[in-house]
Amino acid sequence: DWRAALDALRDTLGVDGDVVSEAGRAKTIELFGEPLSPRQVVDRICDDVRAGGLEAVLDYTRRLDGKNLTAETVRVSEAEFAEAEAAADPAFLDAIRRAAENVREFQSAIRHRDVPVRRDLPGGGAVHLVQRYVPMKRVGLCVPGGAAAYPSTLLMTAVPAQVAGVKEIAVSVPPTAFGGYNADLLATCKAIGVTEVFRTGGAQGVAALAYGAPTKNGAGGVKPVDFIGGPGNLFVALAKRRAFGTVGIDSIAGPSEVIVLADETANPQFVAADLIAQAEHSPGSAVLITWHEPLIVAVRAAVETQLAQLSRADLIRPSLEAYGACVLARDETEACELTDELATEHLHIQTADPERLAERITNAGAIFLGHHTPVALGDYYAGPSHVLPTGGTARFANGLCVNDFLKRSSVIRYDAAALQAAADDVIRLAEKEALTAHAASVSIRCR
Ligand code: NAD
Repeated sequence: DWRAALDALRDTLGVDGDVVSEAGRAKTIELFGEPLSPRQVVDRICDDVRAGGLEAVLDYTRRLDGKNLTAETVRVSEAEFAEAEAAADPAFLDAIRRAAENVREFQSAIRHRDVPVRRDLPGGGAVHLVQRYVPMKRVGLCVPGGAAAYPSTLLMTAVPAQVAGVKEIAVSVPPTAFGGYNADLLATCKAIGVTEVFRTGGAQGVAALAYGAPTKNGAGGVKPVDFIGGPGNLFVALAKRRAFGTVGIDSIAGPSEVIVLADETANPQFVAADLIAQAEHSPGSAVLITWHEPLIVAVRAAVETQLAQLSRADLIRPSLEAYGACVLARDETEACELTDELATEHLHIQTADPERLAERITNAGAIFLGHHTPVALGDYYAGPSHVLPTGGTARFANGLCVNDFLKRSSVIRYDAAALQAAADDVIRLAEKEALTAHAASVSIRCR
């Protein structure tokens, strides 16, 4: 029942916030003394941070992350960045720089530019219109660090913001060995010029960015941002959703997914490696859709052989069993329709003519074409951000990019002759709505 498996994965983020596992319930009682739902936990954390500022953030950091931080140690210092950079493997830093360059190149190419429109009127007069784009002033980025370290997520969020021209970038990352104390992550910050990093994870990290978290005497703490981007666990997702309206957000990105759409030209070993790689996110969903039945048999065998040799098989196998599937479609058309309906985060087309099939797909966060384009290229290196819509939201949502960090304003200028030419129409429209003061603001200029 592969559809049920996929639905189950899509529910694991549970952004409705009312689904609670037994373990989750026990943890909440331990932390809060009562069985609150994740949504209630997040509401309480956000309210407390709003009222109590940095002190409340540090209190939650003590209770949830077991770290005793102060107004000084919550922010990564220059000395800590320098130390991390000195300790980093030079080959790793070189790879980071090359990846950052690729992201910078792609994001620069797709950055919106101002669009001017000029209308010269036949009777004289000119109208100048511009769609103007300006970067946001201050943005916050969530970099996860509860279960694994993600220097790549820092690249895939911060570099697009930098290319947009955002001057102030504040990063929120849990105070863990995978997060705010991870030398590779801090060295990556240093390498790309990110200097404001707070060791504040989860909902309290998001709340600090959204509402600000000043110290008691007002010196230091976290200044509020205009926009929050980047992925995280359920608590991060719920806090971002709650903060929306006070700040802008990118999307609610949940557990990772891939659909491999393949024909008889696909290499079963490659396909197996791709499914396993996605399941490694644990939870992560990996679905093969094909109309060539022998491929399913070969891929299943290859998965078994490869898992037998992998050190992380214990983590990957349950994820594959719960959220993985091989689907035999009647033909290419049915395979494409199904893929489109599932609106996956990653779509990897491994067929003889992948471009042709890609044209039949509307809904997918990122599309990888051909036998030599594993999703890992997009995760780490190619240029588009790896922060992508999940859970079927690719029907309407988009991956993070430079343009999410831009705001647009329309700019309008009429000269006297152009106003004269437009006056009768505008006055008529305003009077139809009984907005006579609107009409008067035009007629007063046209006597
Ligand atoms: P995280 O770093 O997002 O959050 C950890 C924080 O959550 C903790 O520090 C704690 O403060 C808070 N928290 C944990 N349990 C809590 C509880 N019971 N009550 C209140 N707060 C609690 O967590 P993570 O585990 O690293 O998860 C990150 C997620 O992001 C994973 O699902 C990962 O696959 C995903 N991810 C997605 C992308 C992407 O681009 N789509 C990239 C990287 C990671």
